[in-house]
Amino acid sequence: MAAIVQTEKVSRVYRVGGRPVVALHQVDLRIEPGTLVAFRGRSGSGKTTLLNCIGGLDKPTEGQIWVNGQEISRLSELARVRLRRQQIGFIFQSHALLPTYSAWENIDLMLRLAGMKRQERRPRIEQLLHLVGLGKWMDHRPHEMSGGQQQRVAIARAIATRPALILADEPTGELDSQTGQQIWQLFRQLVSQEKVTILIATHDLAVDAYADKLYILQDGRIIN
Ligand code: ADP
Ligand code: MG
Repeated sequence: MAAIVQTEKVSRVYRVGGRPVVALHQVDLRIEPGTLVAFRGRSGSGKTTLLNCIGGLDKPTEGQIWVNGQEISRLSELARVRLRRQQIGFIFQSHALLPTYSAWENIDLMLRLAGMKRQERRPRIEQLLHLVGLGKWMDHRPHEMSGGQQQRVAIARAIATRPALILADEPTGELDSQTGQQIWQLFRQLVSQEKVTILIATHDLAVDAYADKLYILQDGRIIN
């Protein structure tokens, strides 16, 4: 099967005061579609840099990355933005929901920006809120919800436009361990029900039990 993400010898070197800092060193990956993949490692091991390079938010110093068959360094800036908008959903440690918008409105905004018509948005938002277990919370604003519920809204928003790929950077970083496990369970459910591929960057050991594939990162290298 064609890979959804492939990298070949991807390195990212930052210059800090003239000195090189190697954030990623020759990372080779092949990610199958419809899988839950975790990149686990300590702080500073290169997880965020890797996700940012795959998502087109950062550029490797060397090497190549393909997303859905497109080599992203060859794309124009406009084409890269379009790829990101249409095919990639982002989830961060801090949910970044709009505070004055309800759960429903936060998701609706995403769909409006994607140009979806009102009569199609309504059933999709309902489906999404039920999928993430927030059917009864659709009219609540972020501050009226728990951290785990807020993250569920952010997850619903990220998958709303049916991107093929979800990039989740420390999505359980601000949650207690029990709530964190519920998020990993939800990710499993999304992979099977929505057929997405989810790449997770985390230092949370609990992810091991849920991932189809686990990569351990250390000093910018995949060591397993
Ligand atoms: P992680 O997400 O696993 O904590 P990062 O990808 O954030 O790791 O960082 C990997 C390495 O790259 C670290 O040594 C970090 O200090 C360095 N780094 C990350 N971003 C920058 C940056 N913008 N400028 C300089 N160094 C950076
Ligand atoms: Mg990080």
